Formats: sequence, structure tokens, C-alpha cells
Amino acid sequence: MKDKCVLCGVETPYDKTTHIDYRLHYVEGAGQLCKECYEKE
Ligand SMILES: [Zn+2]
Repeated sequence: MKDKCVLCGVETPYDKTTHIDYRLHYVEGAGQLCKECYEKE
């Protein structure tokens, strides 16, 4: 089960069980973003 980008809904490479410390493009308080959305913010 992969976590999805909170903005566009695309699947990210990260499992829901992956700790946020080990993810890229994670925004605390918002959630997981994909690379594209993260770079737009
Ligand atoms: Zn996105």
C-alpha cells in the first residue's frame, strides 16, 4: 500500500508504513507530496 500525494493523488514510492524521516517530499502537517508538487510549493 503506497502513500499518495495529498495534492494530486499520484502514488508515491513510499509505503504508508515508511517513517517520514526516511521519505523525501514529506511536509509535516500536510502529508506526502510527489516530487512535482513538492517542487511547485
Ligand atoms: Zn502531486
